[in-house]
Amino acid sequence: MVMYYTDETIVYLNGDWIKAADAKTSVYSQSLHYGMSVFEGIRSYEIDGKAHLFRGKEHMERMIFSAKAIGLPFKMQADAMMNIAHELLERNKITAAYIRPLVFASPMMSLSFPEEAQFMMCCWAWSKLLGDKLTKLAISPYRKNHPQSIKTEAKVGGHYVNSILAATEAKSRGYDDALQLDVDGHIAECSGANFFIEKDGVLFTPSRGHILPGLTRDSVLQLCKRNKIEVKQQKIAPHEVFAADSAFLVGTAAEISGVQSLDDQSFKKPWASSIGFNLQKEYEAATRSTHEWERVVYL
Ligand code: PMP
Repeated sequence: MVMYYTDETIVYLNGDWIKAADAKTSVYSQSLHYGMSVFEGIRSYEIDGKAHLFRGKEHMERMIFSAKAIGLPFKMQADAMMNIAHELLERNKITAAYIRPLVFASPMMSLSFPEEAQFMMCCWAWSKLLGDKLTKLAISPYRKNHPQSIKTEAKVGGHYVNSILAATEAKSRGYDDALQLDVDGHIAECSGANFFIEKDGVLFTPSRGHILPGLTRDSVLQLCKRNKIEVKQQKIAPHEVFAADSAFLVGTAAEISGVQSLDDQSFKKPWASSIGFNLQKEYEAATRSTHEWERVVYL
């Protein structure tokens, strides 16, 4: 089993700082039974010896948005959450980390919005999710949840059953990750990352609707704007991916990762001469500097 903590690790739980090993929650939590939880994944990078949360406040705001979207009563402000995140890193003496805030429900078995929410935050050292090697993707038989069935743009625990089914199915066939379609058969996203293709010097990425519109996706869009790289947000059919010059996936954990192949068909352009490769280098530099981003507003 992977261990995310040691005997020394400290977590934040409902206002207290406690050892991870001593953190307890009820087995009657509505979140355990029905997936009623929301969470975030944030990376902190070390800049001049200090921890810097990459677009941290926007991640916290997205969690507030997610909680509201599914009726979890969570009242904390993003600034207070940022303070907790910084203290968490200090207490665990770690600067480059992955930070995981989670809002979950109190004991309740009924299918209604919970009256109380609980808040936990933990962190661990986590290197690049997929490493520097190129990713081999497979088109998944598991389609993304339909936006008329769930709150697509909220980062909800229960949604990730769909991601787990897709990722494990792809891995069982020897691939690194799944590329999932929406119910109409257009490209949506990977199990835990957004997806871009390059064709004739232009980038394409699925438009909003069937995806979690990630902050990394937004960072890539902003970097493209700055570099005058054309990006089209539109519906993409699988055959257009097979005809693309290159492809990459983007997300907090994955950062920007080049894709080698889809269903064993390699992309034509060598990764090192693709637009994605240049963006990967820029993103790497931007995450390790106090680069200013246009803020995303979550409603
Ligand atoms: N899509 C899914 C399904 C994800 O889980 C993630 C990771 N949060 C992303 C996209 C990328 O989002 P972000 O760039 O905000 O991490």
